[in-house]
Amino acid sequence: MSLPVLIAAELKRLLEPAQLEGLDVTWLPADGSVPKGNWVAIVPLLSRWVGGTELKVLPKLRIIANCAVGYNNVDVVAAEMRQVIVTNTPDVLTDATADLTWALILACARRLVEAIDLVRSGQWKGWHPELLLGVELRGRTLGLFGAGRIGQAVGRRAVPFGLRLLYAARSAKPDFERDTGAVRVEWPRLLAECDILSLHAPSTPETKGIVNSDALSRMKPDAILVNTARGDLIREEALAIALDEGRLGAAGLDVYTDEPAIHPRLLAAPRTVLLPHIGSATHDTRRKMAAIALANVQAVLRGEPPLTPVYR
Ligand code: NAP
Repeated sequence: MSLPVLIAAELKRLLEPAQLEGLDVTWLPADGSVPKGNWVAIVPLLSRWVGGTELKVLPKLRIIANCAVGYNNVDVVAAEMRQVIVTNTPDVLTDATADLTWALILACARRLVEAIDLVRSGQWKGWHPELLLGVELRGRTLGLFGAGRIGQAVGRRAVPFGLRLLYAARSAKPDFERDTGAVRVEWPRLLAECDILSLHAPSTPETKGIVNSDALSRMKPDAILVNTARGDLIREEALAIALDEGRLGAAGLDVYTDEPAIHPRLLAAPRTVLLPHIGSATHDTRRKMAAIALANVQAVLRGEPPLTPVYR
């Protein structure tokens, strides 16, 4: 007997028939709300909130297999109370997201958006010794807020660029420190000392809005802020004001508080590199994320433990 499952319709082309074996799939369109019914599993994208209302209309639900490593779109407490398992897709997206973080660091440091605009506009007048001068990375300090899988992968890539590494995390990372020379510091020192601040912590009550106007005022006026974690770690209006007033060097962002909307002041601010949440967007990674989400569904429906639960 096939088991009824709800899967985000956008994942259809990333999944193989074998991964759907034994499942009676209803493809859930992006714009529709979760329907009422006897589905036993749901595989949502990070853009879908799954909370009390959704749990109520799915009384037979056994697993929420989120197709992302972040799971701030799921009410984990409500799910745990209902004994619904929640899973995510860690590890497989670490390299892709770390690579994209570096694309943002380099784009900000070397003013790629301005350079591309200059060429495309036909205004480029030729080589000039002072044209679009950027920031040399060697000898500068990269600060990581959050040094888990992605934060550490970003840090390891910093070594050949000759950057000094600082990080703030809840617990020490001795292997990472030994391999890279990274030093663990408190948040205020991270803000004050780094030339590039890159955010890699999840969105939680403790981290939401951590980059606010006070934090921005403690940063060096030419520092680069990069965020490939979650948009709500940054107060976007405060960031836009800091950029407008020349109190921050540049901002490279992949994520926003109210995606896909971007705060209008931030959209208009100078020295930004703004991407449409593509941290994990490689062919390989997106297939692996969908595969892990379905493997979690299959395991739980077979009565086995999930592969990557977000709580135990
Ligand atoms: P992870 O391995 O769980 O790492 C998270 C890190 O954040 C850990 O070092 C953790 O510290 C630290 N942390 C948590 N709360 C903190 C706090 N209050 N203060 C300081 N540090 C704190 O997660 P990951 O796989 O690296 O992913 C990180 C985030 O990236 C995800 O949550 C997700 O939202 C985002 N992401 C975005 C994209 C994208 O497309 N842009 C793609 C993938 C992931 P401890 O180690 O001490 O617990």
